[in-house]
Amino acid sequence: MSWTDTYEVVIGLEVHAQLATASKLFCGDSTAFGAEPNTHISPITMGHPGTLPKTNKKAVDYAIKMGLACACEIEKDNYFARKNYFYPDLPKGYQISQHTTPICKGGKVRIKTADGTYRFVQLNRIHLEEDAGKSIHDLDPTFTCIDLNRAGTPLIEIVTEPAIFSADEAWQYVTEIRKLVRWLGICDGNMEEGSLRCDANISLKLKGATTLGTRVEVKNLNSIRNVKKAIEFEIERLAAILDKGEKVQQQTRSFNASNDTTFAIRDKEEANDYRYFPDPDLAPFHLTDSFIQHIQSQLPVLPNAFTEKFISLGLSEYDAHQLCDEQATALYFESAIAHTQNYKAVANWILGPIKQYLHEHHISLQELTLDGIKLAELIALVDEGTINFSIASSKILPALITSNNLSALSIAESMNLLQVSDGNELSKWIEAVITKMPDKVAEYKKGKKGLIGLFVGEVKKLSGGK
Ligand code: ADP
Ligand code: MG
Repeated sequence: MSWTDTYEVVIGLEVHAQLATASKLFCGDSTAFGAEPNTHISPITMGHPGTLPKTNKKAVDYAIKMGLACACEIEKDNYFARKNYFYPDLPKGYQISQHTTPICKGGKVRIKTADGTYRFVQLNRIHLEEDAGKSIHDLDPTFTCIDLNRAGTPLIEIVTEPAIFSADEAWQYVTEIRKLVRWLGICDGNMEEGSLRCDANISLKLKGATTLGTRVEVKNLNSIRNVKKAIEFEIERLAAILDKGEKVQQQTRSFNASNDTTFAIRDKEEANDYRYFPDPDLAPFHLTDSFIQHIQSQLPVLPNAFTEKFISLGLSEYDAHQLCDEQATALYFESAIAHTQNYKAVANWILGPIKQYLHEHHISLQELTLDGIKLAELIALVDEGTINFSIASSKILPALITSNNLSALSIAESMNLLQVSDGNELSKWIEAVITKMPDKVAEYKKGKKGLIGLFVGEVKKLSGGK
Protein backbone atom coordinates (compact mmCIF):
# COMPACT_ATOMS: atom_id res chain seq x y z
CA MET A 1 0.00 0.00 0.00
CA SER A 2 1.35 3.40 -0.78
CA TRP A 3 0.66 6.65 1.06
CA THR A 4 -1.58 7.84 -1.79
CA ASP A 5 -4.24 5.28 -0.80
CA THR A 6 -4.62 6.84 2.63
CA TYR A 7 -3.45 10.43 2.61
CA GLU A 8 -3.53 13.64 0.63
CA VAL A 9 -0.57 15.99 0.64
CA VAL A 10 -1.02 19.74 1.05
CA ILE A 11 1.84 22.10 0.28
CA GLY A 12 2.32 25.84 0.70
CA LEU A 13 5.45 27.47 -0.72
CA GLU A 14 7.24 30.63 0.31
CA VAL A 15 9.62 31.82 -2.41
CA HIS A 16 12.13 34.55 -1.65
CA ALA A 17 13.32 36.43 -4.71
CA GLN A 18 16.18 38.92 -4.46
CA LEU A 19 15.25 41.97 -6.46
CA ALA A 20 17.72 42.98 -9.16
CA THR A 21 18.16 46.53 -7.94
CA ALA A 22 21.65 48.05 -7.95
CA SER A 23 21.40 49.09 -4.31
CA LYS A 24 19.83 47.79 -1.11
CA LEU A 25 16.26 48.22 0.09
CA PHE A 26 16.98 51.05 2.52
CA CYS A 27 20.41 52.45 1.60
CA GLY A 28 22.85 52.94 -1.28
CA ASP A 29 25.07 49.90 -0.57
CA SER A 30 25.65 47.72 -3.61
CA THR A 31 23.80 44.42 -3.93
CA ALA A 32 26.44 42.89 -6.25
CA PHE A 33 27.00 39.17 -5.68
CA GLY A 34 30.47 37.83 -4.93
CA ALA A 35 32.19 40.91 -3.49
CA GLU A 36 34.87 40.62 -0.76
CA PRO A 37 33.02 39.79 2.48
CA ASN A 38 31.81 42.71 4.55
CA THR A 39 32.61 45.44 2.01
CA HIS A 40 29.03 46.53 1.20
CA ILE A 41 28.06 47.39 4.73
CA SER A 42 27.47 51.06 5.44
CA PRO A 43 26.34 52.17 8.93
CA ILE A 44 22.75 51.96 7.68
CA THR A 45 23.09 48.29 6.77
CA MET A 46 24.71 47.77 10.17
CA GLY A 47 21.90 49.60 11.94
CA HIS A 48 24.19 51.95 13.82
CA PRO A 49 22.38 54.38 16.11
CA GLY A 50 21.40 57.58 14.39
CA THR A 51 21.40 56.21 10.86
CA LEU A 52 18.29 56.73 8.78
CA PRO A 53 17.02 54.22 6.21
CA LYS A 54 15.18 55.36 3.08
CA THR A 55 13.01 53.15 0.88
CA ASN A 56 14.34 52.16 -2.56
CA LYS A 57 11.64 53.16 -5.03
CA LYS A 58 12.82 50.69 -7.65
CA ALA A 59 12.28 47.78 -5.25
CA VAL A 60 8.71 48.95 -4.66
CA ASP A 61 8.27 49.22 -8.39
CA TYR A 62 9.54 45.64 -8.93
CA ALA A 63 7.30 44.20 -6.23
CA ILE A 64 4.27 45.83 -7.85
CA LYS A 65 5.35 44.48 -11.24
CA MET A 66 5.33 40.94 -9.90
CA GLY A 67 2.00 41.55 -8.20
CA LEU A 68 0.38 42.82 -11.37
CA ALA A 69 1.81 39.92 -13.37
CA CYS A 70 0.16 37.53 -10.87
CA ALA A 71 -3.17 39.37 -10.81
CA CYS A 72 -2.75 40.45 -7.19
CA GLU A 73 -4.55 43.34 -5.60
CA ILE A 74 -2.05 46.12 -4.91
CA GLU A 75 -2.08 47.60 -1.41
CA LYS A 76 -1.99 51.38 -1.59
CA ASP A 77 -1.27 52.16 2.05
CA ASN A 78 1.97 50.55 3.05
CA TYR A 79 4.36 50.73 5.97
CA PHE A 80 7.36 48.73 7.05
CA ALA A 81 7.59 46.95 10.38
CA ARG A 82 10.47 45.70 12.47
CA LYS A 83 10.48 41.97 13.02
CA ASN A 84 12.67 41.55 16.10
CA TYR A 85 14.83 38.52 16.69
CA PHE A 86 18.45 37.75 17.40
CA TYR A 87 20.65 36.07 14.86
CA PRO A 88 24.36 36.58 14.23
CA ASP A 89 23.79 37.48 10.58
CA LEU A 90 21.12 40.05 11.42
CA PRO A 91 23.18 43.10 12.37
CA LYS A 92 20.33 45.37 13.46
CA GLY A 93 18.65 42.79 15.70
CA TYR A 94 15.54 43.10 13.59
CA GLN A 95 14.52 42.56 9.99
CA ILE A 96 12.53 45.24 8.23
CA SER A 97 9.54 43.58 6.59
CA GLN A 98 5.91 44.22 5.86
CA HIS A 99 3.62 42.96 8.57
CA THR A 100 -0.09 43.68 8.20
CA THR A 101 0.07 45.34 4.78
CA PRO A 102 1.74 43.12 2.18
CA ILE A 103 2.15 45.22 -0.96
CA CYS A 104 0.38 42.56 -3.06
CA LYS A 105 -2.61 40.56 -1.84
CA GLY A 106 -4.08 37.40 -3.31
CA GLY A 107 -3.16 36.62 -6.89
CA LYS A 108 -2.56 33.41 -8.81
CA VAL A 109 0.04 31.57 -10.84
CA ARG A 110 -0.82 29.13 -13.62
CA ILE A 111 0.73 25.67 -13.57
CA LYS A 112 0.36 22.56 -15.65
CA THR A 113 -1.01 19.57 -13.75
CA ALA A 114 -0.15 15.90 -14.15
CA ASP A 115 -3.01 15.26 -16.59
CA GLY A 116 -1.77 18.02 -18.91
CA THR A 117 -4.45 20.55 -18.04
CA TYR A 118 -3.81 23.92 -16.43
CA ARG A 119 -4.90 25.30 -13.12
CA PHE A 120 -4.11 28.32 -10.99
CA VAL A 121 -2.29 28.15 -7.67
CA GLN A 122 -3.79 30.73 -5.33
CA LEU A 123 -1.35 33.15 -3.75
CA ASN A 124 -1.81 34.51 -0.27
CA ARG A 125 0.45 37.54 -0.69
CA ILE A 126 3.68 39.01 -1.95
CA HIS A 127 5.49 41.23 0.51
CA LEU A 128 8.67 43.27 0.53
CA GLU A 129 11.42 42.71 3.06
CA GLU A 130 15.16 42.87 3.46
CA ASP A 131 17.50 39.89 3.31
CA ALA A 132 19.79 38.91 6.19
CA GLY A 133 23.55 38.43 5.97
CA LYS A 134 25.15 35.04 5.57
CA SER A 135 26.56 32.67 8.17
CA ILE A 136 29.22 30.43 6.67
CA HIS A 137 29.75 27.29 8.70
CA ASP A 138 32.06 25.29 6.44
CA LEU A 139 34.97 27.69 5.88
CA ASP A 140 36.69 27.40 9.24
CA PRO A 141 36.96 24.30 11.46
CA THR A 142 36.09 26.09 14.69
CA PHE A 143 34.36 29.34 13.81
CA THR A 144 31.31 30.42 11.89
CA CYS A 145 32.16 33.23 9.50
CA ILE A 146 29.73 36.08 8.92
CA ASP A 147 29.41 38.01 5.68
CA LEU A 148 26.97 40.89 5.98
CA ASN A 149 27.12 42.03 2.36
CA ARG A 150 23.71 40.49 1.69
CA ALA A 151 22.07 42.16 4.68
CA GLY A 152 19.54 44.69 3.45
CA THR A 153 19.21 43.31 -0.08
CA PRO A 154 15.61 43.74 -1.22
CA LEU A 155 13.49 40.61 -1.38
CA ILE A 156 9.97 39.83 -2.31
CA GLU A 157 8.44 36.87 -0.55
CA ILE A 158 5.80 35.16 -2.65
CA VAL A 159 3.54 33.08 -0.39
CA THR A 160 0.98 30.60 -1.69
CA GLU A 161 -2.13 29.39 0.02
CA PRO A 162 -1.88 25.74 1.08
CA ALA A 163 -2.99 24.93 -2.44
CA ILE A 164 -0.30 22.77 -4.04
CA PHE A 165 -1.01 19.07 -4.01
CA SER A 166 2.06 17.16 -5.17
CA ALA A 167 5.82 17.39 -5.43
CA ASP A 168 5.45 17.71 -9.21
CA GLU A 169 3.08 20.63 -8.86
CA ALA A 170 5.58 22.30 -6.55
CA TRP A 171 8.24 21.77 -9.21
CA GLN A 172 5.95 23.33 -11.83
CA TYR A 173 5.10 26.25 -9.59
CA VAL A 174 8.70 27.19 -8.78
CA THR A 175 9.61 26.82 -12.45
CA GLU A 176 6.84 29.27 -13.35
CA ILE A 177 7.90 31.74 -10.66
CA ARG A 178 11.51 31.64 -11.82
CA LYS A 179 10.44 32.17 -15.43
CA LEU A 180 8.22 35.05 -14.46
CA VAL A 181 10.75 36.99 -12.34
CA ARG A 182 13.33 36.64 -15.10
CA TRP A 183 10.83 37.64 -17.73
CA LEU A 184 9.93 40.77 -15.77
CA GLY A 185 13.63 41.50 -15.23
CA ILE A 186 13.12 41.90 -11.48
CA CYS A 187 15.33 38.99 -10.30
CA ASP A 188 17.98 36.92 -12.06
CA GLY A 189 16.35 33.74 -10.74
CA ASN A 190 19.77 32.26 -10.06
CA MET A 191 19.09 29.62 -7.43
CA GLU A 192 22.74 28.51 -7.08
CA GLU A 193 23.69 32.02 -5.99
CA GLY A 194 20.68 32.19 -3.70
CA SER A 195 18.78 34.86 -5.63
CA LEU A 196 15.74 32.61 -5.49
CA ARG A 197 15.13 30.40 -2.45
CA CYS A 198 12.17 28.37 -1.41
CA ASP A 199 10.71 27.22 1.92
CA ALA A 200 8.30 24.32 1.55
CA ASN A 201 5.48 23.73 4.06
CA ILE A 202 4.14 20.19 3.88
CA SER A 203 1.34 18.38 5.65
CA LEU A 204 -0.64 15.20 5.18
CA LYS A 205 -4.30 14.68 5.94
CA LEU A 206 -6.53 11.66 5.63
CA LYS A 207 -8.16 11.43 2.23
CA GLY A 208 -11.24 13.61 2.12
CA ALA A 209 -10.56 15.28 5.49
CA THR A 210 -11.52 18.95 5.57
CA THR A 211 -9.01 20.18 8.13
CA LEU A 212 -5.32 20.47 7.36
CA GLY A 213 -2.76 18.31 9.08
CA THR A 214 0.17 19.62 11.11
CA ARG A 215 2.81 21.04 8.81
CA VAL A 216 6.56 20.86 8.70
CA GLU A 217 8.58 23.54 6.99
CA VAL A 218 11.75 22.73 5.04
CA LYS A 219 13.83 25.90 4.82
CA ASN A 220 16.11 27.36 2.18
CA LEU A 221 15.78 24.99 -0.74
CA ASN A 222 18.18 26.26 -3.37
CA SER A 223 17.18 24.38 -6.49
CA ILE A 224 13.93 23.26 -8.05
CA ARG A 225 15.12 19.70 -7.85
CA ASN A 226 15.70 20.03 -4.12
CA VAL A 227 12.20 21.44 -3.63
CA LYS A 228 10.80 18.30 -5.21
CA LYS A 229 13.15 15.91 -3.41
CA ALA A 230 12.52 17.51 -0.02
CA ILE A 231 8.76 17.22 -0.49
CA GLU A 232 9.00 13.61 -1.64
CA PHE A 233 11.11 12.73 1.38
CA GLU A 234 8.78 14.54 3.80
CA ILE A 235 5.68 12.84 2.40
CA GLU A 236 7.17 9.42 3.09
CA ARG A 237 8.41 10.46 6.54
CA LEU A 238 5.07 11.98 7.59
CA ALA A 239 3.11 9.02 6.24
CA ALA A 240 5.26 6.64 8.28
CA ILE A 241 4.60 8.69 11.45
CA LEU A 242 0.85 8.77 10.84
CA ASP A 243 0.76 5.08 9.93
CA LYS A 244 2.17 4.31 13.39
CA GLY A 245 -0.67 6.31 14.92
CA GLU A 246 1.74 9.00 16.13
CA LYS A 247 1.38 12.77 15.91
CA VAL A 248 3.40 14.96 13.55
CA GLN A 249 5.52 17.59 15.34
CA GLN A 250 5.33 21.05 13.85
CA GLN A 251 8.96 21.55 12.95
CA THR A 252 11.40 23.54 10.94
CA ARG A 253 13.69 21.28 8.94
CA SER A 254 16.64 21.54 6.61
CA PHE A 255 17.46 19.60 3.45
CA ASN A 256 20.59 17.52 2.98
CA ALA A 257 21.26 17.47 -0.75
CA SER A 258 23.96 14.80 -0.48
CA ASN A 259 21.37 12.10 0.30
CA ASP A 260 18.02 13.84 -0.40
CA THR A 261 16.84 13.69 3.21
CA THR A 262 15.74 16.33 5.71
CA PHE A 263 16.62 16.83 9.37
CA ALA A 264 15.02 18.83 12.17
CA ILE A 265 16.61 22.18 13.01
CA ARG A 266 14.07 23.41 15.53
CA ASP A 267 10.63 22.62 16.91
CA LYS A 268 8.25 25.43 16.29
CA GLU A 269 6.59 27.09 19.22
CA GLU A 270 2.86 27.66 18.74
CA ALA A 271 3.41 31.19 17.45
CA ASN A 272 6.63 33.12 17.22
CA ASP A 273 6.52 36.48 18.93
CA TYR A 274 8.59 38.88 16.90
CA ARG A 275 7.28 41.99 18.64
CA TYR A 276 6.45 43.59 15.33
CA PHE A 277 6.00 47.34 15.35
CA PRO A 278 6.01 49.97 12.59
CA ASP A 279 9.56 51.13 11.86
CA PRO A 280 9.67 54.64 13.30
CA ASP A 281 12.46 55.69 10.92
CA LEU A 282 10.63 54.86 7.72
CA ALA A 283 7.71 56.92 6.46
CA PRO A 284 4.66 54.91 5.44
CA PHE A 285 4.18 55.14 1.70
CA HIS A 286 1.00 55.66 -0.24
CA LEU A 287 0.74 54.46 -3.83
CA THR A 288 -1.43 56.45 -6.19
CA ASP A 289 -3.58 54.86 -8.87
CA SER A 290 -1.59 56.61 -11.56
CA PHE A 291 1.70 55.23 -10.18
CA ILE A 292 0.28 51.69 -10.29
CA GLN A 293 -1.26 52.22 -13.71
CA HIS A 294 2.05 53.47 -15.05
CA ILE A 295 3.74 50.24 -13.95
CA GLN A 296 0.88 48.24 -15.45
CA SER A 297 1.34 50.01 -18.78
CA GLN A 298 5.06 49.12 -18.79
CA LEU A 299 4.48 45.39 -18.23
CA PRO A 300 5.76 43.24 -21.09
CA VAL A 301 3.53 40.70 -22.79
CA LEU A 302 3.62 37.82 -20.30
CA PRO A 303 4.74 34.26 -21.07
CA ASN A 304 1.23 32.76 -20.89
CA ALA A 305 -0.11 35.29 -23.38
CA PHE A 306 2.79 34.58 -25.74
CA THR A 307 2.31 30.82 -25.40
CA GLU A 308 -1.36 31.09 -26.25
CA LYS A 309 -0.64 33.33 -29.21
CA PHE A 310 1.95 30.89 -30.57
CA ILE A 311 -0.46 27.97 -30.18
CA SER A 312 -3.10 29.95 -32.04
CA LEU A 313 -0.58 30.38 -34.88
CA GLY A 314 -0.55 26.60 -35.26
CA LEU A 315 2.47 25.63 -33.20
CA SER A 316 2.32 22.57 -30.98
CA GLU A 317 1.86 23.20 -27.28
CA TYR A 318 5.31 21.79 -26.70
CA ASP A 319 7.02 24.13 -29.14
CA ALA A 320 5.05 27.12 -27.88
CA HIS A 321 6.17 26.43 -24.31
CA GLN A 322 9.77 25.93 -25.34
CA LEU A 323 9.75 29.26 -27.17
CA CYS A 324 8.32 30.96 -24.09
CA ASP A 325 10.88 29.65 -21.61
CA GLU A 326 12.74 32.92 -21.93
CA GLN A 327 11.51 36.26 -23.09
CA ALA A 328 14.42 36.70 -25.53
CA THR A 329 13.42 33.52 -27.37
CA ALA A 330 9.76 34.54 -27.63
CA LEU A 331 10.71 37.99 -28.91
CA TYR A 332 13.12 36.52 -31.43
CA PHE A 333 10.42 34.18 -32.71
CA GLU A 334 8.11 37.18 -33.04
CA SER A 335 10.69 39.15 -34.98
CA ALA A 336 11.22 36.30 -37.46
CA ILE A 337 7.56 35.45 -38.10
CA ALA A 338 6.99 39.01 -39.23
CA HIS A 339 8.91 38.01 -42.38
CA THR A 340 7.66 34.52 -43.20
CA GLN A 341 4.47 32.51 -43.12
CA ASN A 342 6.29 29.32 -42.21
CA TYR A 343 5.94 29.62 -38.42
CA LYS A 344 6.65 25.97 -37.80
CA ALA A 345 10.00 26.27 -39.60
CA VAL A 346 10.94 29.32 -37.52
CA ALA A 347 10.19 27.36 -34.34
CA ASN A 348 12.21 24.39 -35.60
CA TRP A 349 15.17 26.57 -36.49
CA ILE A 350 15.18 28.38 -33.16
CA LEU A 351 14.71 25.26 -31.04
CA GLY A 352 17.05 23.18 -33.21
CA PRO A 353 20.09 24.53 -35.08
CA ILE A 354 20.13 28.01 -33.53
CA LYS A 355 19.85 26.74 -29.98
CA GLN A 356 22.59 24.25 -30.72
CA TYR A 357 24.81 26.95 -32.22
CA LEU A 358 24.33 29.18 -29.16
CA HIS A 359 25.12 26.26 -26.88
CA GLU A 360 28.27 25.28 -28.78
CA HIS A 361 29.55 28.85 -28.92
CA HIS A 362 28.53 29.75 -25.36
CA ILE A 363 26.59 32.81 -26.41
CA SER A 364 23.11 34.01 -25.57
CA LEU A 365 20.33 34.74 -28.00
CA GLN A 366 20.76 38.45 -27.29
CA GLU A 367 24.34 38.19 -28.54
CA LEU A 368 23.34 36.43 -31.75
CA THR A 369 24.03 38.57 -34.81
CA LEU A 370 21.33 36.98 -36.93
CA ASP A 371 18.20 39.00 -37.12
CA GLY A 372 14.73 37.70 -37.80
CA ILE A 373 14.74 38.84 -41.45
CA LYS A 374 17.92 36.89 -42.21
CA LEU A 375 16.48 33.77 -40.64
CA ALA A 376 13.28 34.19 -42.65
CA GLU A 377 15.34 34.48 -45.86
CA LEU A 378 17.17 31.29 -45.04
CA ILE A 379 13.88 29.49 -44.42
CA ALA A 380 12.55 30.74 -47.77
CA LEU A 381 15.59 29.33 -49.60
CA VAL A 382 14.99 25.92 -48.03
CA ASP A 383 11.27 26.07 -48.80
CA GLU A 384 11.94 26.89 -52.46
CA GLY A 385 14.40 24.00 -52.70
CA THR A 386 17.34 26.29 -53.46
CA ILE A 387 19.30 24.73 -50.61
CA ASN A 388 18.48 21.70 -48.55
CA PHE A 389 17.89 21.82 -44.80
CA SER A 390 20.94 19.89 -43.70
CA ILE A 391 23.30 22.12 -45.72
CA ALA A 392 21.41 25.18 -44.54
CA SER A 393 21.76 24.27 -40.88
CA SER A 394 25.24 22.80 -40.89
CA LYS A 395 27.02 25.12 -43.33
CA ILE A 396 25.03 28.25 -44.21
CA LEU A 397 23.80 29.10 -40.71
CA PRO A 398 27.26 29.40 -39.09
CA ALA A 399 28.55 31.36 -42.10
CA LEU A 400 25.54 33.62 -42.00
CA ILE A 401 26.02 34.32 -38.30
CA THR A 402 29.69 35.18 -38.66
CA SER A 403 29.51 37.01 -41.99
CA ASN A 404 27.56 39.95 -40.70
CA ASN A 405 26.10 41.38 -43.88
CA LEU A 406 26.01 38.70 -46.55
CA SER A 407 22.71 37.16 -47.56
CA ALA A 408 22.06 33.43 -47.22
CA LEU A 409 21.80 33.15 -51.01
CA SER A 410 25.16 34.80 -51.69
CA ILE A 411 26.82 32.58 -49.07
CA ALA A 412 25.29 29.48 -50.65
CA GLU A 413 26.51 30.61 -54.07
CA SER A 414 30.01 31.45 -52.94
CA MET A 415 30.34 28.14 -51.10
CA ASN A 416 28.91 26.30 -54.10
CA LEU A 417 26.10 24.82 -52.04
CA LEU A 418 23.02 25.53 -54.10
CA GLN A 419 20.85 22.46 -54.32
CA VAL A 420 20.99 20.78 -57.70
CA SER A 421 17.59 20.08 -59.14
CA ASP A 422 18.85 19.60 -62.68
CA GLY A 423 17.68 16.16 -63.83
CA ASN A 424 20.70 15.41 -66.02
CA GLU A 425 23.22 16.07 -63.35
CA LEU A 426 21.21 14.09 -60.80
CA SER A 427 20.91 11.13 -63.19
CA LYS A 428 24.68 10.93 -63.51
CA TRP A 429 25.10 10.62 -59.73
CA ILE A 430 22.30 8.08 -59.50
CA GLU A 431 23.83 5.97 -62.28
CA ALA A 432 27.18 6.06 -60.52
CA VAL A 433 25.69 4.85 -57.25
CA ILE A 434 23.70 2.06 -58.89
CA THR A 435 26.75 0.79 -60.75
CA LYS A 436 28.81 0.93 -57.58
CA MET A 437 26.48 -1.34 -55.58
CA PRO A 438 25.02 -4.11 -57.79
CA ASP A 439 24.40 -6.46 -54.84
CA LYS A 440 22.27 -3.90 -53.04
CA VAL A 441 20.38 -3.14 -56.22
CA ALA A 442 19.56 -6.83 -56.61
CA GLU A 443 18.34 -7.02 -53.00
CA TYR A 444 16.23 -3.94 -53.56
CA LYS A 445 14.66 -5.50 -56.63
CA LYS A 446 13.84 -8.61 -54.61
CA GLY A 447 11.79 -6.43 -52.27
CA LYS A 448 14.16 -4.99 -49.66
CA LYS A 449 12.66 -1.54 -50.19
CA GLY A 450 14.28 -0.07 -47.07
CA LEU A 451 17.53 0.17 -49.03
CA ILE A 452 16.23 3.28 -50.78
CA GLY A 453 17.58 5.37 -47.90
CA LEU A 454 21.06 4.00 -48.52
CA PHE A 455 20.91 4.92 -52.23
CA VAL A 456 19.65 8.43 -51.47
CA GLY A 457 22.40 8.87 -48.90
CA GLU A 458 25.06 7.80 -51.39
CA VAL A 459 23.73 10.16 -54.05
CA LYS A 460 23.70 12.98 -51.51
CA LYS A 461 27.30 12.22 -50.61
CA LEU A 462 28.38 12.24 -54.26
CA SER A 463 26.66 15.57 -54.80
CA GLY A 464 28.43 17.10 -51.80
CA GLY A 465 25.11 17.67 -50.13
CA LYS A 466 23.70 19.72 -52.97
P1 ADP B 1 5.01 31.20 8.73
O1 ADP B 1 5.39 32.62 8.52
O2 ADP B 1 5.00 30.77 10.13
O3 ADP B 1 5.81 30.27 7.89
P2 ADP B 1 2.59 31.58 7.12
O4 ADP B 1 1.22 31.81 7.58
O5 ADP B 1 3.28 32.69 6.47
O6 ADP B 1 3.46 31.03 8.33
O7 ADP B 1 2.49 30.33 6.16
C1 ADP B 1 3.56 29.84 5.48
C2 ADP B 1 3.15 28.87 4.39
O8 ADP B 1 2.67 27.66 4.94
C3 ADP B 1 2.05 29.35 3.45
O9 ADP B 1 2.47 29.10 2.14
C4 ADP B 1 0.87 28.49 3.81
O10 ADP B 1 0.07 28.24 2.68
C5 ADP B 1 1.54 27.22 4.26
N1 ADP B 1 0.74 26.41 5.18
C6 ADP B 1 0.09 26.81 6.29
N2 ADP B 1 -0.51 25.77 6.88
C7 ADP B 1 -0.23 24.67 6.16
C8 ADP B 1 -0.54 23.26 6.28
N3 ADP B 1 -1.26 22.78 7.30
N4 ADP B 1 -0.08 22.44 5.33
C9 ADP B 1 0.69 22.89 4.31
N5 ADP B 1 1.01 24.17 4.16
C10 ADP B 1 0.57 25.07 5.06
MG1 MG C 1 7.46 30.32 6.79
